Amino acid sequence: MKAVGLFGGAFAPFHNGHLRLALEARERLGLDQVRLVPTAFPVHRPQARISPLRRLEWVRLAVAREHALVVDDCELRRDGPSYTIDTLSQLAEQFPRARRVLLMGADAFAHFHTWHRWADILGLAELAVVLRPGNDLQPPAEAAAALEGRFHPLEVPLLDISSTRIRRKLRHGKSVRGLLPDAILDSLTAADIAALTEDENPSTH
Ligand code: ATP
Ligand code: MG
Repeated sequence: MKAVGLFGGAFAPFHNGHLRLALEARERLGLDQVRLVPTAFPVHRPQARISPLRRLEWVRLAVAREHALVVDDCELRRDGPSYTIDTLSQLAEQFPRARRVLLMGADAFAHFHTWHRWADILGLAELAVVLRPGNDLQPPAEAAAALEGRFHPLEVPLLDISSTRIRRKLRHGKSVRGLLPDAILDSLTAADIAALTEDENPSTH
């Protein structure tokens, strides 16, 4: 393993914006694999109503045929809050000699200075940041000096898709086909839809 990407999120649900980000990052950065990590107990947002296990299953469905995209359930197997620093430390133990790249959207990057032990994260990985509609690629002022030379923009075609928008459409009985993989959409049960549409998480997107 020469280079590995790490891409975490609530994935409630996983959608084509997530999928394209992972695939484009792998190709453009020459990564051997991108590990997709659903958060179990998010720190910076309310817990999703939909269970971590179900969110994990959706990611599995989405990437079943993409061998370079690997679903990693490490945050579900740990107790306590899902801290990226812990996930990265585990990855560094697993692949000590690999180049490690932490992938995220610009909205997440804008709050990077609030992440638990963010300076230590920079010691374990470089950052690659993808633009999202409505966010420009500015490092947060609080961490700008430390971030200098430690992140690079990843220019991928923008997809104006968010889990929030998908949940909102479902709540209003609108179609979401095309916004997320068919395999996920076709697996949704009435209970899933109830849990997703109940989910009133405030969100940046
Ligand atoms: P929500 O609306 O519930 O916040 P989301 O669509 O933002 O969901 P998250 O699970 O919060 O998805 O995001 C995980 C990661 O994926 C974050 O780094 C986020 O910036 C990134 N991301 C999500 N959607 C896109 C998109 N369409 N393009 C690029 N990056 C994205
Ligand atoms: Mg989000």
